[in-house]
Amino acid sequence: MERKQVQSYLQALFVEELAGQQNVPERLAKHGLPQISVPKEVGKLLYLLVKISGSKRILEIGALGGYSTTWLARALPEKGSILSLELKEEHIQLAKQTVEDCNLSSKVNFRSGDAGENLAYLRDQGEKFDFVFIDADKPNYLKYLQMALEITNPGALLVTDNLLLNGRIFNDEDQNPSAVSVRMVNKWLAEEPRVESLLLPIGDGVGLARVKE
Ligand code: SAH
Ligand code: MG
Repeated sequence: MERKQVQSYLQALFVEELAGQQNVPERLAKHGLPQISVPKEVGKLLYLLVKISGSKRILEIGALGGYSTTWLARALPEKGSILSLELKEEHIQLAKQTVEDCNLSSKVNFRSGDAGENLAYLRDQGEKFDFVFIDADKPNYLKYLQMALEITNPGALLVTDNLLLNGRIFNDEDQNPSAVSVRMVNKWLAEEPRVESLLLPIGDGVGLARVKE
């Protein structure tokens, strides 16, 4: 059984994108940006996780073209909202377009700048979220997860993308900062007493952690 075959099967059978989401690859290409949005089936997973958890206040770290943002936002109830932290103003402009194309603008806000700084700001403001999706600079993942614990309610979900790093985590000779960080994050997710978690081998590996009461 090939991973590619499984992926195509899941995408064909279980995923229905909005027209506004279908525009994202072209929008990224036009601006010379990499195609590193979550794959469609991970988008659907994010959507289901938001619905199943009944989350109303979502924090996203890493928006790029807004593809994952729209999957999360699609699942929100009437009064739900998502705040997306994105380093690059240019990406925010593209993500805003995507959100608008999907008619989801009323639920989505962006905050530009470094996520570490913005997380500290949100913590100092006493903000609380019930769902955090982390998909940005890999070397800072552990910091983001630890800060996420400070701005979430008990029972919150912490969802982290790219925890298989395309298989690089299995090659111990790969000491690149991203590989080192993701290995450390997986161990942390497995052992940290404040969460219960699992790494789902879907897409590039999606970490699922629930903050304990
Ligand atoms: N979640 C998106 C893909 C995100 S790609 C999707 O699936 O559609 C990673 C994004 O993280 C890029 O847009 C990059 O600019 C952003 N990023 C990188 N370092 C960051 C930082 N320190 N703070 C906030 N965002 C950062
Ligand atoms: Mg990713």
